[in-house]
Amino acid sequence: MPLSRRGFLRGLGAGGAGLALSPALSARELQAFPALSTLAPLARSTGPIQLDRNENPNGPGRHVLEAIQAAFGDASRYPDDPEEELRKAIAASHGLTPDWVLMGCGSTEILRVAVMAFCRGDRPLVTAAPTFEEPVRMAGTFKVPVAEVMVGRDMGLDLEAMARAAAQPPAGLVFCCNPNNPTATVHGLAAIRDFLARTHAASPETTVLVDEAYHDFVEMPSYATAIPLVKEDPRLVVSRTFSKVYGLAGFRVGYAVARPETIATMRPWRVGNGINLGAAAGAVAAMGAPAHIKAELAKSRESKAFTRKFFEGLGYRVEPSETNFVMVNIRRDSKEFKDACLARGVMVGRQFPQFKQHTRISIGSMEEMERATNIFRGVLAAS
Ligand code: PMP
Repeated sequence: MPLSRRGFLRGLGAGGAGLALSPALSARELQAFPALSTLAPLARSTGPIQLDRNENPNGPGRHVLEAIQAAFGDASRYPDDPEEELRKAIAASHGLTPDWVLMGCGSTEILRVAVMAFCRGDRPLVTAAPTFEEPVRMAGTFKVPVAEVMVGRDMGLDLEAMARAAAQPPAGLVFCCNPNNPTATVHGLAAIRDFLARTHAASPETTVLVDEAYHDFVEMPSYATAIPLVKEDPRLVVSRTFSKVYGLAGFRVGYAVARPETIATMRPWRVGNGINLGAAAGAVAAMGAPAHIKAELAKSRESKAFTRKFFEGLGYRVEPSETNFVMVNIRRDSKEFKDACLARGVMVGRQFPQFKQHTRISIGSMEEMERATNIFRGVLAAS
């Protein structure tokens, strides 16, 4: 068990409970610390069905929750060592050393840091529309100009236009969300390589951030992560998160991979000790169980196929999806649909101004999707 049961027991001992340093907890010890006798349920059982934020409905798995609990004993200590252990594990998983990795409080922090480190009033942000909005929000805070490039007719990023926009004037950062949220589209590795070459040729000082939050869900054979490309490219940053298939959105862990000198440019903008103890312990445990992640992906795909079949059966177009959410053309105002679904107990994604008749639905568990599709049927029949 990572981040040690030993540490946990040490912590209890220091609290004066006088516990033996034995790996097995006695009934009395469990009584003294009742949370240990049972883990919290893995999913919330009340409230609306949450299909609005592309999370993993099943949570991170019992092994991860146990690792988080096992770390409790070190709660009074700053989490430098646990964060470093996680950073090492992440770096090793990509065949790199830790100086190639920057941790973030969710990948949201990485996206913010990238805007702060690379953009200025005269170094705009180039992004897509629609795409994940955090970089644009950050640009607004720092009065950084933003150039938005509409996605193409196939809803995919218009990579050629984004590369051109990087030079007019030279951008600080180009945000490339691959797969893209909310359109669920993805570009293969050759297309990303070509996009990087075009962008660098057009504007050598511009940094590109490839956001791979939904990396694990992609099935398209020509897709591959851009992480190996950072080796030769100091103007490339790739971000990842533990919030999606790993089921740890509530614990906030993300990271960037880039060349050490690029990481060094970004690091001063981070919050120090930004990865809390539970987050570090949970993420290490999650990385140690790849078979669990594979099983989670299989569940997500089964639920996605069920959801697709449901909408197609009613005659609605479900756009191709390489993620854990789908865009469905419901041929009516998606804001009204969202409000009607919420009134009946299902939360779906917000309306995107470029696609007013598409609703973005995150893929929940089979049980959730069975309940949710019954509600969708009722809402669609009533409007
Ligand atoms: N990137 C994309 C594309 C996302 O959709 C999200 C969250 N939905 C994030 C980054 C941020 O996720 P987190 O901060 O939880 O890592």
